[in-house]
Amino acid sequence: MISNHIENIVIVGGGTAGWMTAAAMANRLPRNLCKITLIESDAIGTVGVGESTIPHIRQFNETLGIAESEFLLKTHATVKLGIKFNDWGALGECYFHPFGEHGELTQGIDFHQYWLKAKSMGEDFRLEQYSIAAMAALSGKFPLSTPNKPTAFKDYTYSYHIDANAYAKFLRDYAAKRGVKRVEGKVIKVKQHLNEAIESVVLENGEIISGDLFIDCSGFRALLMAQTLKVPYLDWSHWLPTDSAVAVPCENNISLQPYTQATARIAGWQWQIPLQHRIGNGHVFSSQFMSEQQATDILLQSLPGKPTAEPKVLRFKAGRRQYSWQKNCIAIGLSSGFLEPLESTSIYLIQQGVNKLLELFPDKHFHQALTNEYNASMSDQYELIRNFIILHFHASKRSDSDFWNYCRNMPIPEDLSYLIALFAESGRIDLRQFGVWPAVCIGQNIVPQNYDARLDVMTHKQLSEFMAAHRKKVQSLVDSFPMAEEFITASLRQVAL
Ligand code: FAD
Repeated sequence: MISNHIENIVIVGGGTAGWMTAAAMANRLPRNLCKITLIESDAIGTVGVGESTIPHIRQFNETLGIAESEFLLKTHATVKLGIKFNDWGALGECYFHPFGEHGELTQGIDFHQYWLKAKSMGEDFRLEQYSIAAMAALSGKFPLSTPNKPTAFKDYTYSYHIDANAYAKFLRDYAAKRGVKRVEGKVIKVKQHLNEAIESVVLENGEIISGDLFIDCSGFRALLMAQTLKVPYLDWSHWLPTDSAVAVPCENNISLQPYTQATARIAGWQWQIPLQHRIGNGHVFSSQFMSEQQATDILLQSLPGKPTAEPKVLRFKAGRRQYSWQKNCIAIGLSSGFLEPLESTSIYLIQQGVNKLLELFPDKHFHQALTNEYNASMSDQYELIRNFIILHFHASKRSDSDFWNYCRNMPIPEDLSYLIALFAESGRIDLRQFGVWPAVCIGQNIVPQNYDARLDVMTHKQLSEFMAAHRKKVQSLVDSFPMAEEFITASLRQVAL
């Protein structure tokens, strides 16, 4: 009987996407079921950025059975409790988008509604003061034990800042130990079956590598998805006009800040990502509104330490591939789309792409229903994140440059207008889906005029005491945390033992 099992998987590309895919597949697919080959070209290299992550990466590592201490050691990682946004709502303002929620859900009413009512009574405390993650981050602190233990508050969580190249290498070793074959070489030709599905790829040295299932992790080139299968790109740059970045690492001479900094600039924004051995910096800008030289000058003038490499320029176009799965090929990583690094969501999208593929893992029939489900799910993910990122640019009150005037006045997607109106009028948002929105909306000055009327059962005095008790609990918990560096040192010590 002819087997319908996928027997040969070929991954083209060995950046973060390629090695995350290879590692997850090696871990979750039975080794005797199929062979996995990954092709990467040292001559082409990887994009080499992508250092700020969101908490889902911890699940990814846990599923792979990776010990946190070893991961921290090998990827020179530090911890991240959220993002500090400087000058976004308006020049001179800042806010913190923490991981985890503010306060706790009480009587089925979201905590930010209590904050809104307290504000309407004249209280002037910042939303951050009710978030363990935000308050710990801003004090440079981090708990020594994992923050999954129940507290009086909604769970709070964390992620990492990583050295992207070191992470890819770490996963490469992991995958190799589990049977993934690595081939170094440049793909110069792609052969297709009569139905256009991919049959094999041909390397520069003439080697032909055939497969049943191909994963396109070739980065912005999208060698299989775009160049071969001609899947069009949906261009979202009219909503996300930044299209370039200049990146440079610098020496790390400051105490560890367990958060990413995103500082708005006149035609974009600048990141600061602390690792153990250096700080990653980059200036994301729109080439319509700023030259490369200006962007580089602004970056170099505002580095927190001496640069340790030459500035590197990257170009991109915000958008996504119309389909992430076409025929027998799935695009994961930059080949499937790129939004904007602002909320550090690219690695998360890689993770979603691999997980969904493993959930819907096909056989050689490649049933269309699986393809459709995959494409619908990835499309939802991209659109949700796209809207969230647009919100940061659009909701700014900045009027000090043509770039910000464009962002403030640009038409936005209808579903985003709907969500902004809902929040602005009522503070309502589906927190299961949009858990992170209140911090950003309020931080960007979309402060709802009304609060949940059910809170009127509380007297002013009751509410004031309730809010004060929350602030006190957060503060005393944060006071008990050591500095974030101690967590890193203690974790690295564990590996040494
Ligand atoms: P790449 O790293 O480009 O890898 C492509 C691979 O394909 C390479 O191995 C290359 O050698 C191979 N390849 C290409 N063509 C061929 C060929 N013909 N033959 C053989 N091999 C080939 N993400 C985050 O999550 N957080 C961030 O903070 C973040 N910041 C970013 C900042 C910027 C400015 C940019 C541009 C991106 C950022 N990202 C971030 C995105 C992140 O960098 C990527 O999602 C991640 O690195 C995955 O890239 P990739 O593996 O898809 O592509």
